[in-house]
Amino acid sequence: MTNFDPESIHDVKGVPVHSVHRHDVVIVGAGLAGMRAAVEASAEFDVAVLSKVFPTRSHSGGAQGGIAASLANEEEDHWEWHMFDTVKGSDYLGDQDAIEIMVKEAPVVVREFEHMGCPFSRTREGRIAQRKFGGHTKDFGKGGPILRACYAADRTGHALLHTLYEVCVHNRVRFYPEFFALSLIVRDGVCRGLVAWDVIGGGVHVFHAKAVLFGTGGYGQVYRITSNALANSGDGLSLSLRAGLPLEDMEFVQFHPTGLYQSGILVSEAARGEGGYLTNDKGERFMERYAPQKMELAPRDLVSRSIQTEINEGRGIGGGPYVHCDLRHLGADKIMKLLPQIHELAWKFLHVDCIKEPIPIQPTAHYSMGGIPVDIDCRVLIDGKSKPVAGFYAAGECACVSVHGGNRLGTNSLLEASLFGRRAGKAIVRFLRETRDFPELPSDAADAAIAEVERVLSAGGSESVGAIRTELKDKMSAGCGIFRDGGKLEKLAGELRGLEKRFRNIKIDDRSEKFNYDLLEAIELGHMFDFVELIVAGALKRQESRGAHSRTDFPDRDDEKWLRHTLAWKRGEKVEFDYKPVTITRFQPKTRTY
Ligand SMILES: Cc1cc2nc3c(=O)[nH]c(=O)nc-3n(C[C@H](O)[C@H](O)[C@H](O)COP(=O)(O)OP(=O)(O)OC[C@H]3O[C@@H](n4cnc5c(N)ncnc54)[C@H](O)[C@@H]3O)c2cc1C
Repeated sequence: MTNFDPESIHDVKGVPVHSVHRHDVVIVGAGLAGMRAAVEASAEFDVAVLSKVFPTRSHSGGAQGGIAASLANEEEDHWEWHMFDTVKGSDYLGDQDAIEIMVKEAPVVVREFEHMGCPFSRTREGRIAQRKFGGHTKDFGKGGPILRACYAADRTGHALLHTLYEVCVHNRVRFYPEFFALSLIVRDGVCRGLVAWDVIGGGVHVFHAKAVLFGTGGYGQVYRITSNALANSGDGLSLSLRAGLPLEDMEFVQFHPTGLYQSGILVSEAARGEGGYLTNDKGERFMERYAPQKMELAPRDLVSRSIQTEINEGRGIGGGPYVHCDLRHLGADKIMKLLPQIHELAWKFLHVDCIKEPIPIQPTAHYSMGGIPVDIDCRVLIDGKSKPVAGFYAAGECACVSVHGGNRLGTNSLLEASLFGRRAGKAIVRFLRETRDFPELPSDAADAAIAEVERVLSAGGSESVGAIRTELKDKMSAGCGIFRDGGKLEKLAGELRGLEKRFRNIKIDDRSEKFNYDLLEAIELGHMFDFVELIVAGALKRQESRGAHSRTDFPDRDDEKWLRHTLAWKRGEKVEFDYKPVTITRFQPKTRTY
């Protein structure tokens, strides 16, 4: 391998390489996962955080309802109960060793946030306030909903994210705001850094590092109706695939039951946690039919399927594609104190005053259970099973450790991102204590990234990026949404191939370097094509219904054949699969009823 020489490619091919930056640790993503890892590693090492949006605009800041921990501040709770709920919620696909770590360490992580100064809502006695959330129960599911979600009104993510940002600034973490990661440099099983685009100033920057962490978040933007921020385009998944690494369990996509009708903007589960009802056109609380005990607080996969069934069978409001989330009986005081953001969003986006009227809602693409396969120390696995890439870590929504299995419980994601971000930070510190030298940077380190930028900037075709992106989202929603079947999935796979072909013939209007969103949107769309194929192919292969993956042609869970994780690689035009067993320790799979 010859060494990288920035001078040698300076301004060649018309794309300037502006600088080579060196940091012990380079983190991509300033959400809870990325910044919690940065807090941990910056106590000892030089840490940089890149984010394609300004750090505090990361999607974590949009999280509303809460972060789970069995603090037992207001009623009895135990980590074993939290573990049982998470395992059952995952439809037994979650790895129980990882889940056990998460639920045991949860109280520590939440109290650390408190000590950092996070402004949680409080009980009368001054403890962190907790509320009910779907699928979280008392006494191994035998009791009713439990107060487990720690919250700051309905702006929990905002409070947590700003707290971390302040600690990072205090720890002198070096931020690169509005830097867009383009490619990961992995050679011979060793991660050596990455290449990024400076969104504001233009130009390619090479980041040379001993350790890289991805906390790049989710990909809800591949669906038409989604709760996710525009930035959630799954870039990290694509960069990993392009480095020859697999993705795990990509067929498991969570649809949140309550998105605002038409926009998909989230109405937090806190609305139901505080006592909100779901009603259909006849005014029935239809959850009685689907989950007679847990009602609106059944897990998300079940509630979303129930809403979609009501809509499909003509009981949507006025026969339309939505139902109602009714908060009126909670009263103005409770709504304005505990759910102010929901009140504001319903008013701004639908002109509905939820103190006086029910909110029109429909299920919305929300969360990715699958992602980059990692071990319990967040080391990315080359084979998806046991062999780590030296120096490459992933945590948060882009990773699959797998604590959520087939379906995530609400409030377990802020927990996962913070907790595994923290674990990743600690693991990186251990790794760096033993790694004195920077790995060699290959001479072609920046070539792929430069070629991609050059290709887009000189694209002279006829297809519009926006139009293809819209078609991709529509097609994914129609063919790979809440209910799936073999026929629809096969048709979708063909349509995606056709769209990708058209993508190779795009036109670009803006050819400048600075603030060029035409360029970034085209690159993001290319990323989406990389992994949507894996979602669809994985969904087609998995001939069963489990968690959020619901096949109408295979309506039952099939533990004999499918109690296993999917691993998928992209090799040329082909998707290749492998499988690995689920780690089961305390709770054997059982029929899942609520
Ligand atoms: C509206 C909403 C409400 C939610 N509410 C809750 C809740 O109440 N409780 C709960 O547990 N979970 C909730 N979730 C889920 C939870 O918020 C997310 O799963 C979690 O915050 C993800 O954190 P993260 O750190 O992995 O990623 P994110 O917070 O999404 O951050 C991703 C980061 O990666 C960066 N990035 C991505 N690609 C690139 C690139 N190419 N180059 C540079 N930077 C890049 C982004 O700029 C960003 O900084 C909610 C989700 C949504 C959408």
